[in-house]
Amino acid sequence: MIYLPPLKSLKDLLLWPFRLVFNLPIQEQALLGLILTIPLLVLTLFSGSKQPADRTVDITETVSLKIGALDNRKDSLRLYAGTPLRLLARQGKLVWVETEDGRYRGFVEAKNFTGDARKTLEGLPNRRWNSRYYISKQKFEALMDTPGLTREALERNWIHAEYLQPDGRGMSGEFGFHVVDSVGTQFRPVIQFARDGSVTDYLLEFWRSKRAIRLGSAIDLFSPLISIAEFRSFSPFDHGVTNLIWTYLIGYLPLFLFVLLLWARTPLIWMPNVVANLCITALITIGPFTWCMLLRVQGIAWWPLVPVTVLCSLVGCFLFWNSYSGLRCPRCKHLIGHEYQGTLLGNTYTEVKRNQKAVSRKNLKHRTSSWEHKRVEVAQGRYEVRGVLTHFYEDEVTYEIFETRSLLQRLTRKYACPKCGHGRDKQDVKVLESKTKPVGRHTTVERYTRKQIEGIPFKP
Ligand SMILES: [Zn+2]
Repeated sequence: MIYLPPLKSLKDLLLWPFRLVFNLPIQEQALLGLILTIPLLVLTLFSGSKQPADRTVDITETVSLKIGALDNRKDSLRLYAGTPLRLLARQGKLVWVETEDGRYRGFVEAKNFTGDARKTLEGLPNRRWNSRYYISKQKFEALMDTPGLTREALERNWIHAEYLQPDGRGMSGEFGFHVVDSVGTQFRPVIQFARDGSVTDYLLEFWRSKRAIRLGSAIDLFSPLISIAEFRSFSPFDHGVTNLIWTYLIGYLPLFLFVLLLWARTPLIWMPNVVANLCITALITIGPFTWCMLLRVQGIAWWPLVPVTVLCSLVGCFLFWNSYSGLRCPRCKHLIGHEYQGTLLGNTYTEVKRNQKAVSRKNLKHRTSSWEHKRVEVAQGRYEVRGVLTHFYEDEVTYEIFETRSLLQRLTRKYACPKCGHGRDKQDVKVLESKTKPVGRHTTVERYTRKQIEGIPFKP
């Protein structure tokens, strides 16, 4: 039966969902995590990808075609009414187009399409504005060195040229690759093609820097997760809820899978509990941390990402630590806590403790030294020469002595694994009764000194 937490105050209301989830057995928490994350992952990796359209229209107004995004290539081309344009895709308020001869490619504003030309925009595939392919510099350089590489092969297997313009005898194109080097700088390549479409040269232009994030060639491994295909029909960033799940939960996916493997028991039955617990600790921290870095490479802002990820990992570690020793039965390796069986009552014994409290204090003698000049610390780390007077006191102090007698009983709480009966004991002590009474007084003389420093208030 599902335990429903109480709901009596605003605090209860806020914590209710967390209590509901964390009261579930650990395998159900992991299962819930997988139910939330796996569909998003599958949709993201395998959602349909269309090709650009190929539809020609004569424009009815003079338009400006943007043919470069890099600082040194920001340029536009004026196209007059009546020019035929090939429409490739819609991208928000823009239309991705190329000239009929294929020499220029870029974006024009959709509002420039009027009259009959406007109707041709209907049904164009949508190109994602943030489409890009993450690749390590090493892998990109190897790709560019592939013999016989052509623009057609690049566009078919990787990503399309976003912008194109004539360059000497051939063409050059800005591609949606984000080339990441070993210190985290991201480059955008400009690739030059010969007239027959084969790659002749390329330049890597600075795009942005994420210098704190060094993933090296691991980028290539995770690239399918953070790259965004141009015509992908689904992106987790499209909706608020999927965005939250994608940002904060994907990093725990290896942990969810590991917990389910523990739950399935047979695959990891050989693994000692200490190793299993170490693996869980590692996955709680490394998984979200790596995912956080990957999202930072993708350009997600620091402030909504990093503090929440750190907090979630700390809470995760804390909750895990609470069930650290009782997560898995050491004998049968079922992912189930030991159940309380009962308490064995042990022998009783008496414990006597004495303590004392000053009840009166009388000053017998008080004399002072003469003023001396000494180097004294008047504030932290600051020394000055000041006058110092030493007070000598002699007090008569009377103490009352108390004795506490307690009757204690040893207890053994018995726990057992519901599957195999493996037992675990917890020792405890219960106080049956306790009495404190005064048992006498004694008087002593105490001598002590106090220093009085010039310019500093003195309390004797
Ligand atoms: Zn067991």
